[in-house]
Amino acid sequence: MAPRTHLFCGFWVRATITLVATRSVFFVATSFLVLGVLPARAATVEAIRLWRAPDHTRLVFDLSEESAFSSFSLANPSRFVVDLKQTRLASSLDALPLAGTPIRQVRAGIRKGTDLRLVLDLSAEVRTSVFLLLPNDVTGYRVVVDLFDSPVAEPQPEPEPVLSVDALDTRRDIVIAIDAGHGGEDPGASGPGGLREKKVVLQIAQRLERQFADAPGFKPVLTRTGDYYVGRKKRRDQARAIKADLFVSIHADAFTKPSANGASVYALSLKGATSATAQYLADTESVSDLIGGVATTDGESILVDVLADLSMTATLDTSLKVGALVLEQLGGVARLHKRQVEQAGFTVLKSADVPSILVETGFISNPTEAQRLATPEYQDKLARAIRRGVQSWFARQPPPGTLLAWQREQGGRGVTIAPGDTLSEIAEHYGVSVSAIKASNGLSRDVIYVGQTLLIPEA
Ligand SMILES: [Zn+2]
Repeated sequence: MAPRTHLFCGFWVRATITLVATRSVFFVATSFLVLGVLPARAATVEAIRLWRAPDHTRLVFDLSEESAFSSFSLANPSRFVVDLKQTRLASSLDALPLAGTPIRQVRAGIRKGTDLRLVLDLSAEVRTSVFLLLPNDVTGYRVVVDLFDSPVAEPQPEPEPVLSVDALDTRRDIVIAIDAGHGGEDPGASGPGGLREKKVVLQIAQRLERQFADAPGFKPVLTRTGDYYVGRKKRRDQARAIKADLFVSIHADAFTKPSANGASVYALSLKGATSATAQYLADTESVSDLIGGVATTDGESILVDVLADLSMTATLDTSLKVGALVLEQLGGVARLHKRQVEQAGFTVLKSADVPSILVETGFISNPTEAQRLATPEYQDKLARAIRRGVQSWFARQPPPGTLLAWQREQGGRGVTIAPGDTLSEIAEHYGVSVSAIKASNGLSRDVIYVGQTLLIPEA
């Protein structure tokens, strides 16, 4: 790969930088607002963090000051070099978790007496993107290096045997995009004892995913599967790409008062927020991309939002109805913060065509609730409640062409048994008797199995 360099000044001018990375070229558009000659102050790299995502590796350099940087690639052996002007290293390179990344090692050296050179020795071909993030409430200046894996040619799946025209496309799965908030650079809210929202919500999301995976007729897909950040727009794009029937974002945020507690469900608001708490949480979430490290070029265009608003109303109506059913189920396992689905301008919910809800599983800032949120038992209960709420919506309104729609056409509502379900709870939920369900399904005993689909007779 040909060496490439992008240089700009950082000390005596104030620079606004737009970096657009393509496969092999960087375009650097720089506009300068000259503030006058400032004495060059040496910057320090105070910490280096590494996050591995399924398709890329992210290195983050925490800087004490703004610093000018440049980068280029070298071949034979393959290396990626980042030079930071007037910068020194005050962080160890030894503890970086390089396993599973294309980086064999990271070396540092001093260049021209005062500059820092970091060399990444690479074991695989990567596409790179380097950008500067401005300070926010949580972090200072950061230089972010993203190394995108070269796409591996995926083996073509074997065509499925054709059974019948019906089986081809009339019984598809209902696709649920499950979105664990925050991740990587963005820890989300913090609870007592260093409990992090990003970790708790990933655990709940993974439990929810397993439950839906066990429920025939549903296909869950996680928007993030580990500890790395995914931009909020990208989360929505992922849901759209997999043609999700529903997007469920899982959070456990903090509030200004530690006494605040309880679960709540949110949908998008096209106008204002329905409460001060809703507004506060939407505002908190709005800094997620800044902390998580989304390059300015990945951000939202205002035009997209305006267009989305126009076709949003029907989708929002569905979101509110699904949200109400999820809230009802959550009420059985948690105290509810509010009895109605609340609304605020959450960016992550702004899909025009995918109904989207955000579940605040509780306030991690409340010591008692935080303790509960960290336990597997409570996480399972929350996941079960969310799953049941979602299932009861799709049992009533199965999208055409799905297994659930087909079951409904057979003369009743189909309910697929998931772990933890009992016959008496199902009967109570649908307002029918246990004996009526047993009669409809030819059951002689009260035993049901995970994955079994039961026909629920009309009440
Ligand atoms: Zn959150």
